[in-house]
Amino acid sequence: MKSLKENFQKANIVIIGAGIIGKFNALELSELGFQVTIIDPTQLKNSSNAALGLLMGNMYQKRRGRSWNLRKQSIELWPQWIKFLQKFNYELNIEKPLIQLTTNEEKFKKLEKFVFENNDPTLLILERDSILIKNINKAFQTKNIKGIISFKDGRINALSLLQTLDKYLKHKKVNYLQGEIIKIRKSNNQWISTTRNNENIKSDMVILCNSLKAIDLIDSRSHNIKLKPVLGQAIEIEINDAEVDLLSLPKQFNINGKNIISKSKNKLIIGSTDEYSTKPEKNTFEKLTNFLDKKPNWLEKGKISKKWYGIRSRPDGEPSPIMKNLEDGLIICTGFYKNGFLLAPACSKWVANEIKNYLY
Ligand SMILES: Cc1cc2nc3c(=O)[nH]c(=O)nc-3n(C[C@H](O)[C@H](O)[C@H](O)COP(=O)(O)OP(=O)(O)OC[C@H]3O[C@@H](n4cnc5c(N)ncnc54)[C@H](O)[C@@H]3O)c2cc1C
Repeated sequence: MKSLKENFQKANIVIIGAGIIGKFNALELSELGFQVTIIDPTQLKNSSNAALGLLMGNMYQKRRGRSWNLRKQSIELWPQWIKFLQKFNYELNIEKPLIQLTTNEEKFKKLEKFVFENNDPTLLILERDSILIKNINKAFQTKNIKGIISFKDGRINALSLLQTLDKYLKHKKVNYLQGEIIKIRKSNNQWISTTRNNENIKSDMVILCNSLKAIDLIDSRSHNIKLKPVLGQAIEIEINDAEVDLLSLPKQFNINGKNIISKSKNKLIIGSTDEYSTKPEKNTFEKLTNFLDKKPNWLEKGKISKKWYGIRSRPDGEPSPIMKNLEDGLIICTGFYKNGFLLAPACSKWVANEIKNYLY
């Protein structure tokens, strides 16, 4: 039997899909010495390019089970990967902390209970008379915003991370093919991925990281996996009010379920979470800005300066994400309707371990 090292060096792996999940898997596997090919027809239109990059791990209120374990592992892995990737982009960083706010008394009580019970020095309740809460209430023209702060959570610039990964993959000479895979099959212990142009790409293993389209490539009779499209929208709003300085707000925070990034004195980004449609609706501004009983004037009068969206895939009938070893040499890693950026390190590690077990 060949040694593990020999198997690794020989094995070549095709990754279908070049969103954050495909790219992160390519990073992990290239570092282990595999020969990786990544295939995607139009990576610039994917949901990864729409993401706000919030890494909300330690704030997750359920501290057990699979979802928490993936978060916990990712929180530990992120600083190591950032340090590594800074060789390719010294500016890459996780901007901390992250703040979660609510105007709902019941929700705040839950947050309070969560912080008290966990006794974690990196999670604190924001005092009512703290400068931060005063500034937030002042800017949003309310009195009842409360919340918690997590010093371990934060935000990575999603586009900058994707570009840094591209730089790394190029440096590692990872094969990038522009093409759409329409069929995969196994023949003589090899996987053959066929592109729309009828090109066949042979590999020892295939990893499906192509979000919603992953199910088109697997046999539905043997694998009962269902995915639903979930729309995610974001807008950049420009305000014209000298009285408000958006930089007095935290850099990244969430109020009543909306993610907000203050970009400059007069610009902020607001992102939504779940919408079960595939086309953005006309009333995006209303949908994204109605997160308080009464909107502050500056927000009411704000103008959309940019607008974008992405379609994510949500597993139907099982928890997110879907990570499965479907058959010898075929792994699926999809269904990241939320938190794809946060979970990428832990999920790539899971895939790498499955591959090591398979080859050993
Ligand atoms: C507005 C918005 C804000 C978000 N904010 C955050 C956030 O703050 N934090 C966070 O962690 N997550 C966030 N997300 C979620 C995050 O974007 C997703 O979880 C993540 O991008 C999923 O990555 P992916 O690689 O699985 O999918 P995608 O990025 O969609 O990539 C899938 C790729 O597969 C390719 N593909 C499809 N079919 C084929 C085929 N047949 N052959 C080859 N390639 C194929 C596609 O072209 C695409 O490039 C946000 C999402 C949106 C839309």
